[in-house]
Formats: sequence, C-alpha cells, structure tokens
Amino acid sequence: MAFGSQTEGACSSCHQLYPASDLDRYLWCLPCRKEVYRRGAAWGRRLGIITSLAVGLYVALAVQPSRRYMVLYAAALVLTYVLIGRITVALIQGYYRAKGRIEPT
Ligand SMILES: [Zn+2]
Repeated sequence: MAFGSQTEGACSSCHQLYPASDLDRYLWCLPCRKEVYRRGAAWGRRLGIITSLAVGLYVALAVQPSRRYMVLYAAALVLTYVLIGRITVALIQGYYRAKGRIEPT
C-alpha cells in the first residue's frame, strides 16, 4: 500500500466508516468486536457459574468425594467454569457474526 492511499471501509455491523486497516476480515470495527466479546463474556460467566454449581452439586450428592481428592474436584469445578465460559464466548461471537450485526444496548 502506497503512502497516503489509506482507504476507508464501512463496518458491516454498524455501517460507520473506518480506515480499512481497522476492520477485521469480516469487516467489523473494533467497537463492534468489543461489544460482541463483552456480551459473550457476560453469558460465559453466567453459564460457567451455573454449570459449575450443577457439577458441584452432582459431585457432592452423587459421587460423595473423599477429602483426599477434594483439591482435584475443586480443580475440576474451576476448569468447568473456564471451559464453559470460553465455549460460550465462542458460540455467542459466532451467533452475532452469522447474524451480521449487533444492536447497540
Ligand atoms: Zn461497527
């Protein structure tokens, strides 16, 4: 790209003009990407906590763990929270990307 030939492009979500280098490969601007991530992270935290509590309840009632392995069960709950959170963020991002736009709140 030659000096001074910076082109502008419209964000495919909010339709505002940005320098083409600020748009990602799906032509989304940074504020729209941040909003999608923020919503995905909020859902990820909610589902992560709910799933961890469900797994914890199952372990406490059905498995009845011994005190010897309590650290491993606690680690499994933390891993459940982290993994469910990340999967949810990816799914929410995919949902909004497939939808093609994100409405401002
Ligand atoms: Zn945008």
